[in-house]
Amino acid sequence: MSRLFVGVRLSVFLHSMKMRLIFLLSCICFASLVSAQSDTVRTVVAKQGDGIYKILRENGYEAKDYYHDFLEINKDKIQQEDQLILGETYILPRKHEIAGPEHVVVIDTVPQVCVKPDSDSLLDSIPPVCILDTTSSPMPQVKMELRIADTIKGTALKGAIFYLIAGHGGPDPGATSYVDGVMISEDEYAYDITLRLARCIEEQSGKVYMIIDDPDDGIRSGKILKIDYDEYCYPGVEISRDHTTRLVERAEAVNKLYYANKTTKYQRVVEIHIDSRNSATRVDAFFYYCHGSTKGKALAERMYNVFRQKYAKFQPNRGYFGSVEERNLLVIRKVIPPAAFMEAGNINNERDRKRLLDPNNRQALANWLCEALKQDYKANQ
Ligand SMILES: [Zn+2]
Repeated sequence: MSRLFVGVRLSVFLHSMKMRLIFLLSCICFASLVSAQSDTVRTVVAKQGDGIYKILRENGYEAKDYYHDFLEINKDKIQQEDQLILGETYILPRKHEIAGPEHVVVIDTVPQVCVKPDSDSLLDSIPPVCILDTTSSPMPQVKMELRIADTIKGTALKGAIFYLIAGHGGPDPGATSYVDGVMISEDEYAYDITLRLARCIEEQSGKVYMIIDDPDDGIRSGKILKIDYDEYCYPGVEISRDHTTRLVERAEAVNKLYYANKTTKYQRVVEIHIDSRNSATRVDAFFYYCHGSTKGKALAERMYNVFRQKYAKFQPNRGYFGSVEERNLLVIRKVIPPAAFMEAGNINNERDRKRLLDPNNRQALANWLCEALKQDYKANQ
């Protein structure tokens, strides 16, 4: 084998070794650069109108997943109600390694068989009875992304979409009162009742959008629900400090989704608040709908009737003094889908507060509302 050939082979080998070495070195440099990058602390200066959600969103974060990280690392520069200091420098949180799994459940959609009593009996006003038909082969599995429910218990709301608006939130706690010297606020209790309603709807295979949501509060079973200011407006927007803007932004969030879901025939809005009157006044849950909305009126009336029936059944001697009427409220006027609005009671009245402080009562309110939604959906099939 000639010397020349060996020489050429050697130089080719050395050249490729050099190339490989350069490549390796550049990889190492790049890797350390990336980790240096991720290790470098990113900061941002708070501008006029900035809030935590706005800053996180503008810097490419899924705001609701990083809200509390931001609060934690900047806690000495966060003012009351989670407000930022204008011109102050804030540290942006480190990105989470792995995004959490989506809350998805797989359901076997078992077909149903519906039986209707024969026509000439007194019973024909009774709606058909539907039972699961376990004889036929199960239909294809369906993946459902759930906001709060863990299981699917039925299909009574399958194909329906609900936009749930818990009153106030963020910088606005709504009405406040004191229990054993501790301040409680309307928005926390309205949110808990709304989340329980969301669970009930999802358990019946309905689709829920929480228009006002909270990054870390799930369904709470306590009596005193801790006040915080981290609620946000769908899909992760700061709740404005301005009253009218606050209402307009949540109505617009609904309307955007309404158009995005326009192939879905049945879409409804439910807004939940807690009233504030003088402490001597007892207020049973009452309902509003928007002037001219026949479907909103029908929904609100169904809610009123379910409450009336439930009180007659469970507390026959108590009576029920709720009401249902039209009211010109900005959100239910501005949203496109038919809407119903509930005031759950008077936060300042001790007996009414029982309806709010006891988690079982909050659950009962949600169940009754859900009952009315099922009736309304069925009537609109
Ligand atoms: Zn309110």
